[in-house]
Amino acid sequence: MVVIAGPCAVESREQVMTIARHVKGCGAHMLRGGAFKPRTSPYSFQGLGEEGLRILAAARDETHLPIVTELLSEDDIPLMARYADMIQIGARNMQNFRLLREAGRIGKPVLLKRGISATIEELLNAAEYVRSEGCEDIVLCERGIRTFETSTRFTLDISAVPVLRQRTHLPVIVDPSHAAGARELVPALARAAAASGVAGIMLEVHPDPGQALSDGPQALTLEMFAELKRDLDRIAALMQDLSHAGRGRKRASAHGAGA
Ligand code: PEP
Ligand code: MN
Repeated sequence: MVVIAGPCAVESREQVMTIARHVKGCGAHMLRGGAFKPRTSPYSFQGLGEEGLRILAAARDETHLPIVTELLSEDDIPLMARYADMIQIGARNMQNFRLLREAGRIGKPVLLKRGISATIEELLNAAEYVRSEGCEDIVLCERGIRTFETSTRFTLDISAVPVLRQRTHLPVIVDPSHAAGARELVPALARAAAASGVAGIMLEVHPDPGQALSDGPQALTLEMFAELKRDLDRIAALMQDLSHAGRGRKRASAHGAGA
């Protein structure tokens, strides 16, 4: 199970380096961080732009963690092509069909997040837009949907995981951070996601969440990430044992039927 971790937004070189070194040390596989941020208010921090991408690239150089970062506009494609290892399409752009097509032409893997009010069928159609431009490396991400419930920022639709696994061969990951909206809730959602059969989990982490320029309330501290990563490793190992045991049972019953 792949673990992608990093800040919501790239804020400074020091912030990203601290996080990258820490999550690498804990065994994370990829570094995330937004250089172009889709914020609800136009007056909120919008990201560092190219400087943010340069900081991510420097963190990759040191830690060898591949980087995933959000593409907000067609205008930024040359920059993305230069710096990113994987292109994120955010929830708010899941049905920006022109952007989906352009992302599919960059020649890099695409991480497609489910829109906050999108059905699974709509998510699959969005993926088809990316694929229709020749991109085969697409990862789908469940990140919570809007429901009547207000105790969490969004409602994590864990059912989307088995449903998507039935309906597509594309890998499915879960982002519990944006669903929870509160760091105390993230570990439980992440553990549930890990036990649901996901290919990966994406987590927001910040060395000083109180000072974060975006999504601070949902950011895990470095210590919380370390502890959660250990839990996720144990759950991933258990899931592997279960799937081996399941295959063993199937083989045994196939033998039984033939005898
Ligand atoms: C993010 O990953 O920081 C982000 C903005 O996510 P979403 O598009 O799911 O809200
Ligand atoms: Mn965020």
